[in-house]
Amino acid sequence: MRSYLSREVFPYSAFYRARFQAAGLGHRDVGARGALPRLSMTTLADIDDPAAIVLRPDEATIQKYARFGLVARVAWAKFRGTQSLVNQRFIDPMFKPVHWHVDEGIPIGSSPDDLERLGELGRRWLERAGLQPYDVVAGLLPAGPNLPYWQLVLGCRHAGVSAIHLGAAATAQQVAAVAPTVIAGRPSDLVRLLEPANGDDRAGRAVRGVHTALVAGERLDDATRQRLLARLPAGAVVVAAWSPPGARAMWSECRGGDGFHIAPDSELVEIVDPLSGVPVTGRADGEIVWSAIGWRGSVLLRLRTAAYGRLDDAPCPACGRATGRVMLTAVEPPFAAVLSAHPGIAAWQAELRAVDGVEELLVFFAPTATGHPGRLVRDLDRHLAATQYVVVPRDELDLRLDEHGGRRLVDLRD
Ligand SMILES: [Zn+2]
Repeated sequence: MRSYLSREVFPYSAFYRARFQAAGLGHRDVGARGALPRLSMTTLADIDDPAAIVLRPDEATIQKYARFGLVARVAWAKFRGTQSLVNQRFIDPMFKPVHWHVDEGIPIGSSPDDLERLGELGRRWLERAGLQPYDVVAGLLPAGPNLPYWQLVLGCRHAGVSAIHLGAAATAQQVAAVAPTVIAGRPSDLVRLLEPANGDDRAGRAVRGVHTALVAGERLDDATRQRLLARLPAGAVVVAAWSPPGARAMWSECRGGDGFHIAPDSELVEIVDPLSGVPVTGRADGEIVWSAIGWRGSVLLRLRTAAYGRLDDAPCPACGRATGRVMLTAVEPPFAAVLSAHPGIAAWQAELRAVDGVEELLVFFAPTATGHPGRLVRDLDRHLAATQYVVVPRDELDLRLDEHGGRRLVDLRD
């Protein structure tokens, strides 16, 4: 981390050079022990210009900060008029952002080296989940500029695992044609695949050979995990992956384990007291603060993630790996668990609104084939204080979920 800060971030990041200097830290200081905690924390909302967080080595900064070898090559190339060759051979593969995804509206760039690394971290995700080279992955993650999709695509490629990326709206028939041993998708899309609106049995046949469901793209709650397990063949396992917006690769559970393994060679995770911003001691709970190590393209340091949890650095009781694990605190309000676990509810979405300063909670739900709407509402009313319940057909609820990127909690308060 110290050499990363002094050799790459300070020289080539306009955004962090200014922040280090504001903290009274010069180029020599950032390579010293204890410099990082003195840097003020960043939130994604602080980033007015996403181009400012991209590492941009240019002739002036290379001459001022780079190691002698690179300085000499640039000087020699300039002398011979072959500057573009040096860029092509040495600078671009390391630094030029050639691939972008979008997190919370912020474009995050990756260099060719970063993509290699994301592929390797994707491979480790699949390895931890217990995949083998002969597995066949049916990918239901939505194709597009999002991290989970690309980590799955590149991870399968690096692991040498056969994969077909069908997209989030794949039908049971399409999945069955692949005869997958692994399915991967957002929790809401996997529930939709496994619990079809018309209750037909094609879904069960489609996943007959599945031993692992990889869940990514949204946080997975316990109730949804149980529902997925109930629809998968006996012995199958659900393995979750997730990371807060801004982190460059997802964290993931190991097969049968709990908590998310992190990658200490490519990130630093701190837990801070959310009010004071002071790092907590030991394994106490707090806000997760994320820093890149070794990444190029868009670089973030000390990013406040608005995710809460604790860090467990003991070897994992399930797999024995000692990478450290993040144990996340539940984020969904208690009523979400009531809705997810209810056997009469096939799918739901809740909206929080503020009407004339008064908060309202609207719960939209689609009953299962055996669920009786009136009885369900009376039952739910005992456990949660919704302003209104709206019973909708399953297709309509799926549309509502699609409109909100699969999110079940929609906050419309300003
Ligand atoms: Zn583990």
